Order: sequence, then structure tokens, then C-alpha cells
Amino acid sequence: MTSARITTPPTAGLPLQWRDLWPWGDAQLDRALAAWLGVPGVLLECSGTSALMVALRTLQQLQPTRGEVIVPAYTCPLVAMAVAQCGLQIRLCDLAQDSLDMDADALRGLLSAQTLAVLPTHLAGRVADVALARHCAQAVGAYVIEDAAQALGARVNGHSVGLQGDVGLFSMAVGKGLTTYEGGVLVARDAAMLAALRATHQATVRVSRWWECRRSAELLGYAALFRPATMDAVYGAPLRKSLARADWIEAAGDDFDAQIPQHTLGAWRRRVGVRALARLAAHWQAAEQQALRRSAQLAALPGIEVVGDAAAQAQGIWPVIALRMPNQAMRDALMQSHWASGWGLSLPFVHVLPDYAQYAPLLGAARHDAAWQARDWAQRLVAVSNSAWLSDAQFADLLQALQQFTQRA
Ligand SMILES: *Cc1c(COP(=O)(O)O)cnc(C)c1O
Repeated sequence: MTSARITTPPTAGLPLQWRDLWPWGDAQLDRALAAWLGVPGVLLECSGTSALMVALRTLQQLQPTRGEVIVPAYTCPLVAMAVAQCGLQIRLCDLAQDSLDMDADALRGLLSAQTLAVLPTHLAGRVADVALARHCAQAVGAYVIEDAAQALGARVNGHSVGLQGDVGLFSMAVGKGLTTYEGGVLVARDAAMLAALRATHQATVRVSRWWECRRSAELLGYAALFRPATMDAVYGAPLRKSLARADWIEAAGDDFDAQIPQHTLGAWRRRVGVRALARLAAHWQAAEQQALRRSAQLAALPGIEVVGDAAAQAQGIWPVIALRMPNQAMRDALMQSHWASGWGLSLPFVHVLPDYAQYAPLLGAARHDAAWQARDWAQRLVAVSNSAWLSDAQFADLLQALQQFTQRA
């Protein structure tokens, strides 16, 4: 096998080990995560999306007259699905010119007495400026939900992200770091808010044997096949198929089922999570070292910008290294040539929310909210996998290819 045939996964998810799958042991993943995050308690959900729905329903009960939720125009389409599912009206906030965070002026322009919540979002492990969003939200009495789906392990001022707003959520989906195949975590700075979230969970989330069986089988399959020897069969081959049809939405994994399952997270998957969590800090530490070394090499290429944290005093995590290319034509040409090269290139999301035909109907009037800068980000971003499986030799090939693309410009 030549190095070119090894397929790198698109993110540095924490690989599972066989002994993680043992059927017995400590199932208190909530306690383990609370200790790991340095908080008194957390609430477990079956996905980040389900966690967001629990958060939104809780806030709806606290402020029933407010019906709008402000999210970045460039974020996971599941966020729009969750907001719509709760019967709330989404509003799209444009991004800043110089960071992947919401633009503060655009945010102030959207906030009103109608605003239930704002979702500053830590995309790609980079830390958003939640203090600023909170300051803006407080002026109109709106809540702040930190979407830290992609940032379990990121810190700001020495504390976990997710605790500067009123509610924080993390995802344990495949590829986002720690995984129970699908899973979600809710945190809250304030004990009364955590209790309110727990009450909503108890009133709305049920056990589902069928979903637990399905997710357990998927987690087993993932543990068995998320390995260098089988990565090409389970990730590379389907990716090439999507790309052969020019279906970038499927290639990027942006094609979500319309139904959002809500159920509890079963004991066996919690046990797997407890055992894998013991390795997460070391995993992110090693990933950070690799990312800092490789970021410096990437940043040295003319025209290529490595995306950094928006917040000061931040220590993000590095599932990927996000790059901004000089223009869309160059980004698209790079992806056409090398998305399937096995280097783990991908797009965080293909479009801003209103540009997906299948999700635009969820937006209602918000499909007309200004998103110029967010669209520019969507068109120029590339995520380079920070998986340890991307060897130095493969990374050198990637650097050379990037250099050729920028020189051609
Ligand atoms: C993945 C993701 C979600 C949803 O989390 P799931 O666990 O996949 O349901 C929400 N927000 C962002 C920014 C995400 O990347």
C-alpha cells in the first residue's frame, strides 16, 4: 500500500478500543463528564440536537412570550431543524469578517423583546466570544445557549466552554471527539437552570429500546471499522460515490434525516463513554501539538489563512485545522482535485442555511436575513483533518498541493 491509499477520517475523533466495549462497569457518564468538565452536574441526551431541543423547550417555559432564536447563518443544519421542531422562529446572524463567530453589530440588529435565545457557536473547536454575545443578549433579556457541539474539551479563561452562557451543549456524535455514536450533553452555570433542564428532560424524553439497539449496533460497527485498514471501505468509498454524483451535501455529511429522535442514552453506551473519556484529555493534548506544528506550516503558504479563536484567553480543541482560501474558485478547485485523496479534507458545512434547498423551508422569513459574510466564509473554508492517521508524509503531499493551488492564482 502506498501512503496515498490510506484514507484519513475528516476529523480527529477519539478512536475506541476493544476494552471500551466491555458490557459491565461504571455507567455514570454524567458524573464522569461533570468531574471532567469541572461542574457539579450534567444532563445526558441522545444527541446534540436533542439536547438543544430540551434547552429550547426549557427556555420557552421560562419566557413563553418570546419566540425567536438567533443562530449563526453558517452552522449545522440540525440547529435549524431543532428550532423549527420546537415551533420557534429562527433568525440568522451574519458572521464577522475576521472570525467564524457572529458579527456583533449584526447580532445587536437582530436582538429584540422577541428574542428567546442566542446561540454563539464554537465551530471546528475554535472558541467563540460568548462574553460579547452575552453582553448583547442581556440588554434585551434574552438567554444565551452556547453551541459547543464541536468543542468538548475546549476552554476559556481556564474553564470549560459552555458555562459562560445560560445553557451549554456538547455533541457526542461520531467525529466530534468523544463518541457514543450519537449523544449529547447539557450543562448550565446556574443550578436552578440545570434543574429546569432536568425537569424538561423528565417530562419529554422517554426510553426507546429500538433506538438504543440501533445506536448500540452502530457504535459496535464504528468501533470495529473506524481503523486505518477499513477506513477506505467505510468512509473513502462512499465519499467517492457522493463526489462522482457531484453531491457535495452528501459528501460533507450535511444530509440529515428529517426526523429527530429523542430518547434516553442507554447504560452500555454510557459505560463505553466513561472508559473512552479517560483518554480524551491526552487525545486532545496530542492533537493540539500536531495542529500547532501543522498550522504554522499551513499559515506560511501565501494567501492561506488558518482560522483562530474569536475569544481571548481561549484554548480550543483541534478536531480539524480550518483554513480560509483566497477565493471560492480556488477552494472549489482544491476540493474537486483532492477531497478524495485520502488526506481528510472536508467542508465543515457546504452552505449557509438559506442556501440548502432542503433546509430553506425551515427558515420562514429568516431565509432573507443578511448572510453575505457568512456566505463568503462558506465558500472559502476548508477543514484539514487533524487525525493522527494523517502521516507527516501525507501532510507534506497536502502542503505541496496547496502551494501549487495558491501559486496558480
Ligand atoms: C453536530 C452539531 C450539532 C448537533 O449535534 P448532534 O449530536 O449531531 O445532534 C449542533 N451544532 C453544531 C454546530 C454541530 O456541529
